[in-house]
Amino acid sequence: MTWWRPSATPSRCDWAGAGLERGRELTMRKHAASWPAGWVWLGVLAGGLAALAPGVRGETAATQPGQEKYRAHVEALTKRVPGGFTIVPARPFVVVGDEPADIVRQRAAQTVGWAVRLLKRDYFSKDPDPIIDIWLFQDQASYRQHAWELFHDRPTTPYGYYSARHHALIMNIATGGGTLVHEIVHPFMAANFPQCPPWFNEGMGSLYEQCEERHGHILGLTNWRLAGLQQAIRQGPLPPFKDLCSLEAEGFYGPNTGGSGGAGGSGLHYAMARYLCYYLQQQGLVIRFYKEFREHADEDPSGYQTLQRVTGERDLAGFQKRWQAWVLELRFP
Ligand SMILES: [Zn+2]
Repeated sequence: MTWWRPSATPSRCDWAGAGLERGRELTMRKHAASWPAGWVWLGVLAGGLAALAPGVRGETAATQPGQEKYRAHVEALTKRVPGGFTIVPARPFVVVGDEPADIVRQRAAQTVGWAVRLLKRDYFSKDPDPIIDIWLFQDQASYRQHAWELFHDRPTTPYGYYSARHHALIMNIATGGGTLVHEIVHPFMAANFPQCPPWFNEGMGSLYEQCEERHGHILGLTNWRLAGLQQAIRQGPLPPFKDLCSLEAEGFYGPNTGGSGGAGGSGLHYAMARYLCYYLQQQGLVIRFYKEFREHADEDPSGYQTLQRVTGERDLAGFQKRWQAWVLELRFP
C-alpha cells in the first residue's frame, strides 16, 4: 500500500523560521571512485552522530540508543547508493539525494529535520521502525530511472511514493517540499498510532503539506485543497463526518486516487479530512484530539465519539453544517 497521494498542484511548505541546524550539516558526498570507502564511511558516521545528538560529545556510539542499528543501516545503504548521491543522516530517517550536496543537506535539515523535531514535540514519541530512507531525486528523469534501477519500480505517480518493501520514500523532489512533510507524518503515525484510520492519517499528513513554525510548534496553513472543498460544499451534499470517519482504506482512497482536491473521489475525502484537522488546530484542539483518539481507539476506532467529546458537539450533523460555513469563509492564498 502506498502512503503517497499526489497533489494536483505542487504543494510547498513555508519554511520561515526553520533555521539550518549546523550540527546536522556534517555529511559526505559519495564519490565512489575518488575516496576510499572507509573514509567516506567515517564521514557518514560523523554526520550520523552529530544528527543524533549535536550537543553530546565524548560518548561512544554504543551508548546511543539505537545508534548501532542506525549505523549498520547507513553502512548498508552507503554500499548501494550510486555515485553522485549525497547521504545525510536525519534521524530517524536517512536522506539520500542527487541534487547538489548543499541542497540535499539543506533539505535534510530544513525540511526533514525541522518537521521531525516539531512533529515529535507535539505528537510522536516513538520513531518509525524499521528505519526509512528518504530518496530525493532531482527531477522526473532521475526519479524514474532510479526507481527502476534501485527498486525495480515503475512509478504510477510523477510525485513519489512509499515502498513498504524497501522501507523507502521515493520522491521526485522537484514537485515540492510540502509533500515530503505530508509523507513524513505517515511512518510516525504508523509507529505511534497503528490503529489510526485513513481519514485522520491523511488529514494530518495533508494538514502539514503547507505549514510553518509558530511559537515552536508546527502549524498547518490553508492550501490548494481548499478550492475543491469549497466547490464541493457549494454543490453539496458532502458525505457526513460519521461516514468519512468510518471509511476503511478501500473506501477512503477509492478507485479515484487522483488526490485532485476536486469534488469527487478520494480528493474530497482528503480535503474534508484536512480541513477537519485544520478546524481542530484552529480551535486549539488538534493535539488533544490526537492524544484522546489514540487512548480511546479500542472503543472508538473511527474517532467519531472522540470528535464529539473534544469539540463538545453532540450533534455532529449540526456541527458539520457550521464547519462547512466556516470552510467557505477560509481563503487561499
Ligand atoms: Zn498521505
